[in-house]
Amino acid sequence: MQHYRFLVGGKWMDGSAGEVIETVNPYTGKVWATVARATVDDADAAVEAAYAAFRKGPWASMSPAARGAALRRFADLLADEGQPIAETETRDNGRLISETRPQLRYLPHYVHYYAGLADKIEGAVPPVERPGMFNFTWREPLGVVVAITPWNAPLLLALAKMSPALAAGCTVVIKPSEFTSASTLELARLIGEAGIPDGVVNVVTGYGHDVGAALVSHPKVAKIAFTGSDTAGRSIYQAAAGNLKGVTLELGGKSPNIVFDDCNVEDAVNGSIAGIFGASGQMCIAGSRLLVHDSIHDMFVERLRAAAATAVLGDPMKAETQVGPIATPPQFRKILDYVDIARGEGAELVLGGAQADAGEWFVEPTIFTGVRNDMRIAREEVFGPVLSVIPFRDLDEAIEIANDTLFGLAAGVWTNSMDRAFTVARAVEAGTVWINTYRTASHASPFGGYKRSGIGRENGLEAINGFLQTKSVWLNHGAEVPNPFVMRLS
Ligand code: NAD
Repeated sequence: MQHYRFLVGGKWMDGSAGEVIETVNPYTGKVWATVARATVDDADAAVEAAYAAFRKGPWASMSPAARGAALRRFADLLADEGQPIAETETRDNGRLISETRPQLRYLPHYVHYYAGLADKIEGAVPPVERPGMFNFTWREPLGVVVAITPWNAPLLLALAKMSPALAAGCTVVIKPSEFTSASTLELARLIGEAGIPDGVVNVVTGYGHDVGAALVSHPKVAKIAFTGSDTAGRSIYQAAAGNLKGVTLELGGKSPNIVFDDCNVEDAVNGSIAGIFGASGQMCIAGSRLLVHDSIHDMFVERLRAAAATAVLGDPMKAETQVGPIATPPQFRKILDYVDIARGEGAELVLGGAQADAGEWFVEPTIFTGVRNDMRIAREEVFGPVLSVIPFRDLDEAIEIANDTLFGLAAGVWTNSMDRAFTVARAVEAGTVWINTYRTASHASPFGGYKRSGIGRENGLEAINGFLQTKSVWLNHGAEVPNPFVMRLS
């Protein structure tokens, strides 16, 4: 059986306690590899390695242009040799191969984008108007960044954190989910081959409650970039406060997907399916609350039900599969628990609602109607293929329901009226709004949550600012040194 070690300071290591984590294929339910389980001491060693690489050595003295070139070499290696990692990701978390293969072709663009920014980080010359004085700013890297990722998209989310952090000049310790560490470790191998110096990128594999907790409270860590549940996000935020570290938190959602009566029905049906049955609903951006205008409600639900009922469930390695397994047993149980909760609350089941006989941990595409926005099924994140349909009467009510949630990650709107689309896009409290589309993203477009869905942004030009700090430098080139007891303000 394959065994994966983790990476600290350029060395591949087993955990100092000699323990392993078994990693399971969610389609077969069988263990396919073991992963070295890091200890708190190993986490400390990883931070020390990252700290040393940040303070001295080749990375610390490298010019921004050379840093960009190193990232470009890594991006090119990822493009040339990265395809097998798609299969690893599919084997480990059940994401469809028809998604992971194109994702691996896309990910090098992510790295190239930030590689291109490495030598475009500019300071400023503020107009301070102090005769004989010159003031300028440098933008400097924060230091050691801890990147913590969940199981649903390990590679994408590791690169979304690592690429801008490295371009800024930081060093990184990545902790992938204990359920899905293999693909990140394969990615890390390419980092060494690209000639990025030892210690600049470290990966430790272990559990959140010990290794993760040790990383986020480590005094030599400057910043935490986290994607995961809002429960873990809140506990990480508290731990970060202990040392006043910066955080980027990408948390969950309960996103509204709003269908107006003037929409293109076929597109809106496809967009609703993409929003909740894509990735078996295991998406932070899932459009899990489908708000449908009551004049088309019954017709739309029937079209949606008919389309979702034909979805092909099965082996995620097969190109024709449309809905794969649930990645982990706890998540599988949680989804079925929410089906029971929705039934108990009086929602009407119109499709699915049970374990599917397509492999190990499968849940049928599930649709509930008659959902009220105050029900738990409409308020809590399920993170699975369970859709709640909520009717609305008019634009104002749609916006009210859409915003009546603790979360604010994403929203969709389906209409042929530009005016309506813009009104909703402006009014909805969400970090991403899709008009007549759903579930698309780009490294160039900022991504993150309003309200409880998170803090800070990944992707786009904005993301690199999260890994930089500004230093203001004053130079006296001819001013008198004035009365030392009075602050000079003119
Ligand atoms: P999780 O929060 O349980 O775990 C995420 C990561 O955090 C794992 O690596 C875990 O080991 C680690 N962790 C857990 N507790 C920790 C702690 N106290 N200190 C440090 N690290 C800790 O989430 P999950 O179950 O892996 O993923 C599903 C969740 O992630 C869903 O709620 C989903 O909405 C969210 N998610 C959000 C986004 C986004 O971009 N907003 C993307 C994907 C997933």
